[in-house]
Amino acid sequence: AKELGGNRYEVADPDADARAITRHGLTNRLPEALERGEFFVEYQPLIGLENGAVLGAEALVRWGHPVHGVLGPDQFIPLAESTGQIVPLGRWVLEQAARQARTWQSEHPGAGRPPRVNVNLSPIQLHHRDLVAEVAGVLDETGLPPGSLCLEVTESALIGADEDALKPLRRIADLGVAIALDDFGTGYSNLSSLRWLPVSVLKLDRAFTRGMRRHPADPVDLKIVEGIVSLAHSLDLTVTVEGVETRAQAEHLRALGCDHGQGWYYARPGPPEALHRLSLADAG
Ligand code: C2E
Ligand code: CA
Ligand code: CA
Ligand code: CA
Repeated sequence: AKELGGNRYEVADPDADARAITRHGLTNRLPEALERGEFFVEYQPLIGLENGAVLGAEALVRWGHPVHGVLGPDQFIPLAESTGQIVPLGRWVLEQAARQARTWQSEHPGAGRPPRVNVNLSPIQLHHRDLVAEVAGVLDETGLPPGSLCLEVTESALIGADEDALKPLRRIADLGVAIALDDFGTGYSNLSSLRWLPVSVLKLDRAFTRGMRRHPADPVDLKIVEGIVSLAHSLDLTVTVEGVETRAQAEHLRALGCDHGQGWYYARPGPPEALHRLSLADAG
C-alpha cells in the first residue's frame, strides 16, 4: 500500500496485477503454445430432445497451460481475437473437430444419422479472407461430409454485418455446412433479420431457460420461448437450447417443441471418448 498523504492509502489490487501480467504473458505465449500442443478440445454432447439421442457435440477449446493450469476460452479467446491469433487457433480447432467427427462416424457406421460437430467461429475469422477456402480444405482433407459440420456464429457478430461479412457465410452454407446463430436473444437482432441471414439453426441463450429450472415454470418465459420456437420453425430453423441444467428444463423445452438441447443435465464438456460411451449407452 502506498501512502498518499493524510491517512489515505491506495491499496494495490493484487488481482489486477496478476491479470495484467497474465494478459501479457498469455498473448506472447499463444503461438508457441499452439506449436507445443498445449491446446485441446473438449466436446459437449448435443441431444435430440424428442428421444434423448446423442446427435453430435460442440467443440470447446481449452488451454492446458504449464503454469496456470487449464484455462477456459473466456480467459484467452478475447486476447487471441485482439491479436489476430484467433485465426490460426480457430483453424486448428476446426481441423481437430472435423477429424474427431470423422472418427466418430467411422466408429459408428450406419448408426442412424452420422454424428455431427459444432465449431465456434470468431467474428475475426469471419472477416478473414481465407475462411471459405479453409473450411472447404478441412472438409476435403478429413473427408467429413459438409452436412456433419455446423459453424456457430454469435448474434452480436452478425448484428449490422454488411454483405462483405455475410458473403463468406453464404458460400460456406452453399457448401452444405450448417450455420448456427449462437447466443440468440442476448443481442438486439431484429427477428426479421432471420429471413435473410444464411442461418439454419437458432441457438437460444440459456438466459431463456432460467425460469424453467423447476415445475411449474415462469409462464412469461414459457410464452417467450414458445413464440421464438414458432417463428423459428415457420422459417425452417432448428432450435437448440444451451445451458440445460435440470430435468424440469429439459421437460419444459421439449414440451415447447425445441429441437435440440445441450447442457450439464445431459453432460458436461469432456474428452471425445466420453461422447463415444454416451452414444453407445444411448443405443442400448
Ligand atoms: P458458448 O459457445 O456459448 O458455449 C457454451 C458455454 O457454456 C461453454 O463454456 C460450456 O462449457 C458452457 N455450458 C455448457 N453447458 C452448460 C450448462 O448447463 N450450464 C452452464 N452454466 N454453462 C454451460 P466454455 O467452454 O467456457 O466456453 C465459453 C465460450 O468460449 C463459448 O461460449 C464460446 O463463445 C467460446 N469458445 C469456446 N471454444 C471456442 C473456439 O474454439 N473458438 C471460439 N472463437 N470461441 C470459442
Ligand atoms: Ca457456441
Ligand atoms: Ca452459446
Ligand atoms: Ca452463451
